[in-house]
Amino acid sequence: MDYQARRRHLQKKLRRSKIDVLLVSRPENRRYLSGYTARDHGVGESSGALLVPARGTTHLLTDSRYELQARQETDLPVSVYRRGLFKLLQQLVPEKGGKRLAFESHHTLHADSLRLSELAEKLKISLIPVSGLIEKQREIKSEEEIELIRRSVRLNEVIFRKVFNSLAAGTTEIDIALAIETAMRRSGAEGPSFETIVAAGENSARPHAVPTNRPVEPHEPITIDMGLILAGYCSDMTRSFTLATVPDERFRTVHRVVRAAQQAGIAAIKPGATMKAVDRAARSVIESAGYGRYFGHSLGHGVGLAVHEAPSLSSRSRRKLRAGMIVTVEPGVYLPGWGGIRLENMIVVRENGAETLNEDHTWLDL
Ligand code: ZN
Ligand code: ZN
Repeated sequence: MDYQARRRHLQKKLRRSKIDVLLVSRPENRRYLSGYTARDHGVGESSGALLVPARGTTHLLTDSRYELQARQETDLPVSVYRRGLFKLLQQLVPEKGGKRLAFESHHTLHADSLRLSELAEKLKISLIPVSGLIEKQREIKSEEEIELIRRSVRLNEVIFRKVFNSLAAGTTEIDIALAIETAMRRSGAEGPSFETIVAAGENSARPHAVPTNRPVEPHEPITIDMGLILAGYCSDMTRSFTLATVPDERFRTVHRVVRAAQQAGIAAIKPGATMKAVDRAARSVIESAGYGRYFGHSLGHGVGLAVHEAPSLSSRSRRKLRAGMIVTVEPGVYLPGWGGIRLENMIVVRENGAETLNEDHTWLDL
């Protein structure tokens, strides 16, 4: 991965925004710019931050617990703080000629931003909150990243099929979720990219259901939403099904509507299409079938180093898709008291339209 090219690109943006030095605290952003994989959050006494100057060398600042890891994973100079990050910044920021220090305001605790303000006052420099700067850069994936994400998606599918094939009525939602997450770790994933959702019956009418101790029954709808992290890159996939050999009429009807909505959304994906137009293409299929009020969330979201990242395929967004973006397309219909059906695949925006990363993208064609 060409971390240096990514940093150079960011530095150009810093110079354009008249920022002298940027403190990068978000774990995915640190990883994107340096390869440093520590995942815990925060600015203060945690796994650290990158100090990216508008010109010159980026430093990785961390405490002694992460020193070895930082030196092994990056080729950046590592500065270890013994008396806290802020003390080290007090010394390093002036060394970098920083008169204008920026920080990631969308990813900094209020308490930490107050400490940064104190620091800025002490150093007589200005403090600039920035938001989404590196996230914007991360939206467009390189071919190397697309291949890594494809591997993440494919491994996720292999694990889903394996667990699905051994599913039996009477197993609890929690046990199914555990089987999935164990299989992920055994297959070389860093872990799940979010808490696995296994929801059966009425529980599946909640889009973000939490698995319970309830056993799954043969004729009820079951939704599994799962994703893993492989070499830093996330996958995210949802499948809805029943354990019955032939699902009942209602399941088949709703499933067909959701599938048609997903296909319409994918067909609308191309560079230049607005996010809201893609959302509309899928949503109008669900609305015409009479289920409009049962599809409350956005159609999809970007996926990369983070499982939920920009852009958002939202009905409110006039932003346009660009080649190299990766988004989920995940329409759903949630009927209170019965259950829900959601189907989610991951798509790369290509010059000539959508490329689906899932191998088994029409899994369960009813
Ligand atoms: Zn999902
Ligand atoms: Zn998703």
